[in-house]
Amino acid sequence: MHDSTKIVRSTLTRAVAGEPLHPSPVFAAPFHTPGDPNDATYTYTRMNNPTWTALERAIGQMESGQFAPGHADAGKPYRASALVFASGMAASASVFGSVLKPGDVVVLPSHCYFAARALMQEYFAKMGVVIRLAPTANEAQGEQLEGARLLWIESPSNPLMEICDITSLSERAHRAGALVAVDNTTATPLGQRTLALGADFAVASDTKSMTGHSDIVLGHVAVRDLELRQQIEQWRTLMGGVLGPMEAWLALRSIATLPLRLERSSANALRIAEYLTTRTNVVHDVLYAGLPTHPAYALAARQMQHFGAILSFTLADRTSAETFLSKAKLITEATSFGGTCTCAERRARWGGDAVPEGFIRLSAGLEDVDDLLEDIAQALDALR
Ligand SMILES: *Cc1c(COP(=O)(O)O)cnc(C)c1O
Repeated sequence: MHDSTKIVRSTLTRAVAGEPLHPSPVFAAPFHTPGDPNDATYTYTRMNNPTWTALERAIGQMESGQFAPGHADAGKPYRASALVFASGMAASASVFGSVLKPGDVVVLPSHCYFAARALMQEYFAKMGVVIRLAPTANEAQGEQLEGARLLWIESPSNPLMEICDITSLSERAHRAGALVAVDNTTATPLGQRTLALGADFAVASDTKSMTGHSDIVLGHVAVRDLELRQQIEQWRTLMGGVLGPMEAWLALRSIATLPLRLERSSANALRIAEYLTTRTNVVHDVLYAGLPTHPAYALAARQMQHFGAILSFTLADRTSAETFLSKAKLITEATSFGGTCTCAERRARWGGDAVPEGFIRLSAGLEDVDDLLEDIAQALDALR
């Protein structure tokens, strides 16, 4: 089955006469559990919940597929299994926490999502985990793998849109004896199947493009190996960073439209990126994975199915960026990305990323692109 069909079918209940087409949220802390708890599928919602199961089944199918060209098992099918978490950070932490022990080496991208880097540097480093940083671009992380336990990849990276060859890096990491996790938040499993490319863990914040309505916070980890699944699940049960049934239900409702949303937002992002490159008097360094001028365009085209909603560009300085954002009527100034409306922000205002003062990250929404281009044009005109 193709992706759209697979996703739509995966969110339905079994066809039972008189039953709803889609599962409803199951609000429960404990479940009836007489006698031996092993006889009950559900006992207590910190451990498991039927609404998670429905969502995990759908995400698991989305993450399943065939190994990609270039992988040693190219063309062979594999099945993925997913676990959902209260946030993307809770999902990331489950991989860090279940894999790493004192003395272990983790190879992180020097510009990965700033909270993942902060969690590592401020907590795991204190507990004796050794951190090696290297840029995402040009597979520089591959030079740091000797003796490593975990390679953490983010491609395309947020917000600098750096891209690396996930298949070749995974192969090098496995040869060095390391496990590989990819933070696939920017691409989503439909934009890039990281398990098919060779990763052991596909990690994502599903708060962003995956669910795409700017109203829930959640994340997931998907794996092919059942032993790794068990370790992640045990971490989740003991740490308790679990998703509420309402969020799980909203997420399940949202992901059926992911193929449509990805198609539209990727097409809009490309048109905006192309337009920005024509405004060289005020706009610099337009970065989008789908632009042929991106330094890793050929690689992105090979390893991604959709280039996604996010692009970035740089205006002269802080004032120019602030003026642009206040003049643009159809661009909502907010953080996060992948929602229905076009959003942007001056990224340096947070202080966490190594970006210029005039650097803007923009997430293309689902609007009519001609309206967006007209609005962006008048906002840029204000900078002259
Ligand atoms: C937002 C984000 C996260 C964290 O996700 P939350 O759902 O906010 O916890 C992790 N990685 C990337 C790349 C992100 O953009």
